[in-house]
Amino acid sequence: MDFERDVLETDVLIVGAGPAGLALAYKLAGLVAADDSMEMPEILLMDKASYVGGHSLSGAVMDPRGLAELIPDYKDKGAPLEAEVGADSFYLLAEGSATKAPFMPPPLKNHGNYVVSLNKLVGWMGEQVEAAGIDIYAGLAGYELLMDGGRVIGVQTVDQGLDKDGSQKANFEPGSLIQAKVTILCEGVHGSLTRQAFEKIPELAADNLPQSYLTGVKEVWEVPAGRIKPGEVIHTVGWPSPAHEYGGGWVYGMSETMVSVGYAVGLDSPNPANDPHACFQAYKTHPVLKRVLEGGTMLHYGAKTIPVGGYYSIPRLYHDGLLLCGDAAGMLNARKLKGIHIAIKSGILAAETVLEALKADDYSAAKLKGYADRFEAS
Ligand SMILES: Cc1cc2nc3c(=O)[nH]c(=O)nc-3n(C[C@H](O)[C@H](O)[C@H](O)COP(=O)(O)OP(=O)(O)OC[C@H]3O[C@@H](n4cnc5c(N)ncnc54)[C@H](O)[C@@H]3O)c2cc1C
Repeated sequence: MDFERDVLETDVLIVGAGPAGLALAYKLAGLVAADDSMEMPEILLMDKASYVGGHSLSGAVMDPRGLAELIPDYKDKGAPLEAEVGADSFYLLAEGSATKAPFMPPPLKNHGNYVVSLNKLVGWMGEQVEAAGIDIYAGLAGYELLMDGGRVIGVQTVDQGLDKDGSQKANFEPGSLIQAKVTILCEGVHGSLTRQAFEKIPELAADNLPQSYLTGVKEVWEVPAGRIKPGEVIHTVGWPSPAHEYGGGWVYGMSETMVSVGYAVGLDSPNPANDPHACFQAYKTHPVLKRVLEGGTMLHYGAKTIPVGGYYSIPRLYHDGLLLCGDAAGMLNARKLKGIHIAIKSGILAAETVLEALKADDYSAAKLKGYADRFEAS
């Protein structure tokens, strides 16, 4: 069946309303509002989740630096922080036993950080963005990166109403073509448009090391009071993963009765039968975990990939009409297992660069390189 796609035009297209995309939208709106010489550009922020925060996996320890720079009065504005980290510990696990480290490895020290529900934090950031006058299109997924010659010109959204063979059903609705002066991919780890960008623009990934990944499995539990203190943080390495494999686990006290527990397994495991979910089930039976979880109820479950290649796996961050932010560009500090604050910071730096591009009406790679320069200097 022939059909025509709607064409929408915008100035700035942001794909992904996670910490990176929301920070970018909020900062850009603030910069434009403070600049008398500028009118508010059209900013289209879309996310494939049905609501903002719907794809954010809960229970994390956040370094507050990014949020404090973006929204200095974040506490007065009611940012949902579950607890300030009050106690840190680190265990080497063997089957049935544990050795507590006599000191905390520096990357795992968490004093000054906050235990958060990422789902709630992202939802709250979305409210701040909407209060700044930007609409967020939830439930809208980017499907194809649009190019004109060598330049990125926007995104086609996903077709709705296809059957499992890809044939159109009666409720078929074709995706739209969203054309933008600049497109910023904030899709998170291993995003589908980001992968297309690497295929269509080989120079983006020509000079970096390949990315490597963990699979993280997470749950939020309600447990009897007294098992863990709010803000207590436990990290572990060892069992059930063999000593030569990359991975580890954690328990974060969110409140007197809520904990976040998780386990991450390296996808570079030499064992093809290594199953992150099975490892996590075994992990929860270890005495260190059992004393926290026994008699509790699991409330939420999720799993997601974590990019752990580090600085040398970060691709080129710009192209004609394109920027990459946050986990989409692999900006996660693997030793600390933290990416929220870096994603927010990258959104801030991208907003500063997009403002300059809008003022000059220049969206070339040469202009957008300012983002990579800011990133290096930050
Ligand atoms: C198990 C686990 C534990 C973690 N623990 C911590 C921690 O304790 N502390 C910490 O700081 N960090 C932690 N992280 C990392 C942290 O979650 C990320 O670094 C951070 O969320 C990255 O933000 P982002 O905005 O770049 O991407 P994301 O948060 O992944 O957001 C991307 C958004 O883009 C949307 N999207 C993707 N593709 C499309 C598309 N094609 N069209 C439309 N929308 C799209 C998604 O729905 C999502 O909302 C953890 C990660 C995992 C997986």
